[in-house]
Amino acid sequence: MSVTEKELGEFRAQVSAWMKDNKPADPGFLLPQSFMEVGSEQQLEFLREWQHKMWAAGYLGMAWPREYGGGGVEPVFQTIADQEMRRHLVPICFNIIGLGWAGPLIVDTGTEQEKVRYLKGILSAEDIWCQGFSEPDNGSDLGNAQIRAVRDGDEYVINGTKIWTTMGNYAKYMILLARTNPNTERKYDGLSFFLSPMKIEGIEARPIQKLTGEYGFTETFFTDARIPADCIMGEEGEGWKIAMKTLQYERGAEAGAAGGHSFVRVVIDDLIEQLGAYSRDGEPLLQDSLVRDQLVKLIIEEKALSLGDRRAGVGPLTTDYPFSLPLSSKLRITEYARRMRQFAISLQGAAGGLYVGDDEAPQGGFWQRAYFNSFSATIGGGTSQVQTNIVGEHILGLPK
Ligand SMILES: Cc1cc2nc3c(=O)[nH]c(=O)nc-3n(C[C@H](O)[C@H](O)[C@H](O)COP(=O)(O)OP(=O)(O)OC[C@H]3O[C@@H](n4cnc5c(N)ncnc54)[C@H](O)[C@@H]3O)c2cc1C
Repeated sequence: MSVTEKELGEFRAQVSAWMKDNKPADPGFLLPQSFMEVGSEQQLEFLREWQHKMWAAGYLGMAWPREYGGGGVEPVFQTIADQEMRRHLVPICFNIIGLGWAGPLIVDTGTEQEKVRYLKGILSAEDIWCQGFSEPDNGSDLGNAQIRAVRDGDEYVINGTKIWTTMGNYAKYMILLARTNPNTERKYDGLSFFLSPMKIEGIEARPIQKLTGEYGFTETFFTDARIPADCIMGEEGEGWKIAMKTLQYERGAEAGAAGGHSFVRVVIDDLIEQLGAYSRDGEPLLQDSLVRDQLVKLIIEEKALSLGDRRAGVGPLTTDYPFSLPLSSKLRITEYARRMRQFAISLQGAAGGLYVGDDEAPQGGFWQRAYFNSFSATIGGGTSQVQTNIVGEHILGLPK
């Protein structure tokens, strides 16, 4: 049954009122600006409670099947709920590796047992998920992953190291890409995909400090870690195919995410609002023609990105290559975000060098922290260079 505009309008009003009434008060400590920057138990527990509350109210996993904790309604309702979350500037949904990629992968391709075991915990935030793809010597070259998984009776024994594991120290489960056969002709055919427990003997996740001084990811060591053999997803040797499918969700080319926004919304309007307070040589900075010129270019770019996003949702406008916009949007959006924040700092003059914690830092160092954190998304999930290759080869049809 198709949903009417009236129903959607009523739903928007309802979710908007809920977000307004339930938006948590400022906790009095710094919250992460994205799911990749959850660095303390304090932040984690605050965000866990918030995600649980949104799910319990029915605003997360709305399109996932009801029998696994979802809402069983049309995806358009989740889109509206997400828009209202962003509009009301509520805290982020931190468990995005579960909500955004492990979860939809299980919904779309998992067994009944996997769906029952994992989906509800992802939505309720009881079970935090992490992703074990990158290794110290194999990041972009994911197909070369070397961590070993050796079958021993009813278990696999895992040995090796993963790195840059977002929330590796908090996660209960990991989507793990490991090598079950080192002797295949094609390196990809020796890989398998596991839904691995994390809180077991033999797995140690050591937090890594970031450019911001905060934490968010770990180096994750596996030393004879024994996981049940039924943690494998699909068959041995199918890991590459499943990992590629996972990346489709992660990079936005495949729908199915449970919803929830995972980045603090920072837009050019936020900067314009603050620019009124800035001056240079006694003149308001907003009157400076060079600043205005740069600002307008960014405004146009931001507008084009948001229109591109809307266009991606209209099938007949993307028939030339259906995934061209989603596939290229990660590259365009993350690079734009980084340049926009850099521009904000450049307007602060000498004070641009001050950071969070310094009383003199403009806006409490907000833009500095946002700028440092903006590099995360240009690297995680595939670097901008790798994304550029994908656009060149798969969309523009250029040679490798
Ligand atoms: C904040 C953050 C969170 C992350 N979270 C996770 C996580 O939860 N789980 C996980 O598994 N990984 C995670 N990662 C790791 C991320 O996926 C890798 O860092 C990324 O894939 C790049 O791999 P690498 O660091 O080994 O760099 P490399 O692959 O060694 O690349 C080094 C440089 O070479 C360039 N390069 C490499 N190959 C090519 C090519 N073919 N063409 C052109 N240029 C190329 C890259 O663009 C880069 O500039 C995270 C990273 C960050 C920054």
